[in-house]
Amino acid sequence: MNIILLGAPGAGKGTQATRISEKYHLPHISTGDIFRDNIKRGTQIGLLAKSYTDRGQLVPDEVTCKIVEGRLQEADCSNGYLLDGFPRNLFQAQELDQFSKVDAVINIDIDLSLLMDRLCGRRVCKNCGESYHVNFLNGKTICEKCGGELYQRKDDNEETVGNRLKVYNEQTAPLIRFYTEKGVLRNVDGVGAIEEVFERICKALDR
Ligand SMILES: [Zn+2]
Repeated sequence: MNIILLGAPGAGKGTQATRISEKYHLPHISTGDIFRDNIKRGTQIGLLAKSYTDRGQLVPDEVTCKIVEGRLQEADCSNGYLLDGFPRNLFQAQELDQFSKVDAVINIDIDLSLLMDRLCGRRVCKNCGESYHVNFLNGKTICEKCGGELYQRKDDNEETVGNRLKVYNEQTAPLIRFYTEKGVLRNVDGVGAIEEVFERICKALDR
């Protein structure tokens, strides 16, 4: 099964991707990982991508699509894949359509105001990276796991988060329409515990 996972920042996409990949024995393919791998191996396309990021520019869609196309041709994808972070916009989705057939697009759906609260209330451990929500800390400022100091990331403020969500929505709305028209979009309610949301995703994939 070829699956795409969509979800706004803060929707818990990474956590769910790991679980889906384990349960359905699908390689979890994130564009960030493929970029890093290609750059590490010094492939031509990796070096091309790096030439953009080194200048602080976004890697053009054409380059990203080529990198993903190459990755999907590898042996571990022969029984399917789970794409995370790609496609990011309509152009990439249309390109993907040329070299692979998508069976299901899981969209983890969460209200924006809830995401805002999740991200702005996030506190992260300086030591181990564990994250907490300020509402459940009862005023505690140290990590339960390792005793490290908790802090609020600079990006986790209303203005930055608001912008990230706005950009995400602008880019994703056309994708949602594209996959709805193809009849492969499956919306999953993203509100609730990780386990609950995962169960909904499995139901949507199994039906
Ligand atoms: Zn910690």
